[in-house]
Amino acid sequence: MLKGKTALVTGSTSGIGLATARSFAAEGANIVINGFGDKADIEKERAGLEKDFGIKAIYSPADVTKGAEVADMIATTEKTFGSLDVLINNAGIQFVANIEDFPVEKWDAVIATNLSSAFHSIRAALPGMKKRKWGRIINIASAHGLVASPQKVAYVAAKHGIVGLTKVVAIEAANDGVTCNAICPGWVLTPLVQTQIEARAKTSGKTFEEESLPFVSEKQPMHKFTKPENIGALAVFLSSDAAESITGSAYSIDGGWVAE
Ligand code: NAD
Repeated sequence: MLKGKTALVTGSTSGIGLATARSFAAEGANIVINGFGDKADIEKERAGLEKDFGIKAIYSPADVTKGAEVADMIATTEKTFGSLDVLINNAGIQFVANIEDFPVEKWDAVIATNLSSAFHSIRAALPGMKKRKWGRIINIASAHGLVASPQKVAYVAAKHGIVGLTKVVAIEAANDGVTCNAICPGWVLTPLVQTQIEARAKTSGKTFEEESLPFVSEKQPMHKFTKPENIGALAVFLSSDAAESITGSAYSIDGGWVAE
């Protein structure tokens, strides 16, 4: 479905981003992967995308909190593949503490990684998309882009911010063939969530398995994790021609979390 297109997924060395990169490669798109991690593991992922799906994949080590590095990543993508057609802003981090105890540097890091990163990448990618009259921008927000939880002040602020940013870009690009949407996942079992369950298990003295179900069911009527590849499938749909008039929306994929 996306043969000949190029998709860039930030934070795709792990979790949701990694699964999403594979979903786009499976549709024939060339892929730019990005994120931190072990060099050999990243090369294995990149080579695996090419081998498994017969596409071309490159890796960018850009730190998404740094505007110049992000701009350079977009320029390299356009130079290598001729275009950047699908931009998926997925890189994200979490930090959990009451606001009085929330370190200022953690606030800055979460806002830079989860919100300003998307400003930098969209700012750099949009001119090319507008010129070519085709583009898809997908921001991985969260259920926390729509509702709040305690102890996640920076994350909730960043994710609400990204839903707002999504709407502005959608309006500005509405007649340029470019759509911009947010995806708002509930719990997906990735390293980002695993750390939070491990922290609870450490406090309660229970096992990871014993803490997993209460962790999910506290927030979600549906007592199971969403699979990372389900997020990838939704992003692929939003990049399809069938979704050409869907823009400015925030799609929940959260086991009913925000329906309550
Ligand atoms: P993860 O920890 O598995 O992956 C995060 C990725 O971001 C990694 O590849 C990491 O290297 C990359 N990254 C972090 N900082 C970066 C930086 N400065 N520059 C470049 N890359 C950077 O996490 P995940 O759960 O897959 O999360 C992916 C996205 O989905 C995040 O935006 C997260 O907020 C969102 N999300 C996750 C869940 C969940 O339950 N896992 C739920 C809702 C939303």
